[in-house]
Amino acid sequence: RKITIAIDGYSSTGKSTIAKRLASALNYIYVDTGAMYRAVTLFALQEGIINDKGELDKAALVDKLSEIHLKFLPNKQTGRSEMFLNDENVEQEIRSMRVSGFVSPVAAIKEVREKLVKIQQAMGKDKGIVMDGRDIGTVVFPDAELKLFMTASPETRAARRYKELLEKGEKVSYPEVLKNVEERDRIDSTRTISPLTQAKDAIEFDNSDMGLEEQFERIYDYSQR
Ligand code: C5P
Repeated sequence: RKITIAIDGYSSTGKSTIAKRLASALNYIYVDTGAMYRAVTLFALQEGIINDKGELDKAALVDKLSEIHLKFLPNKQTGRSEMFLNDENVEQEIRSMRVSGFVSPVAAIKEVREKLVKIQQAMGKDKGIVMDGRDIGTVVFPDAELKLFMTASPETRAARRYKELLEKGEKVSYPEVLKNVEERDRIDSTRTISPLTQAKDAIEFDNSDMGLEEQFERIYDYSQR
């Protein structure tokens, strides 16, 4: 029996790491919905819809939504799925601090969410899917059989994210990363449309002091119940 697994939580709580691991163990599809919001943000930057002063023209973005085509395609070497924006591989670019700095205001636009939620629901219609994001258990798949809400201390989260960015060669400082993580959480949890909240039937999972193996074993166990 294949199920739908929804993984939500604050920024950099390790959602995608555990989601990927789980999907590959269960032979399920993995979908990183944050990548989709990031790709829309990159589009807005490329088109000047977010200008040099960092101002976002919401109406202009809504107008151009139909020009945004998103696709996940597997990397030929690694087999991992990568984000394509209008047929261009943007997997690296969408992870930059620049995109991280603008993504939460973009994700707070109703029309953006409506477009992406529709695509996400279509991807999950056949079950056998692990999807991570902020509103998967509450909005995208309210009937998911397994819902997790990941948490970890802000310092643990910022440290993880900082390490990741350094490994990718981005020039960032720890305080800058901590500030971005906290700012995104604030915007994501206070926006009017689909704010980040724990679904009533989600299992809260704090992984501040837990290695990947232990997390995986526990969550895999939940998926087999
Ligand atoms: O998961 P990730 O950190 O890549 O997500 C980037 C941003 O995209 C989040 O901070 C949030 O603003 C937005 N997002 C969202 N709903 C989702 C996934 C991501 O609003 N389901």
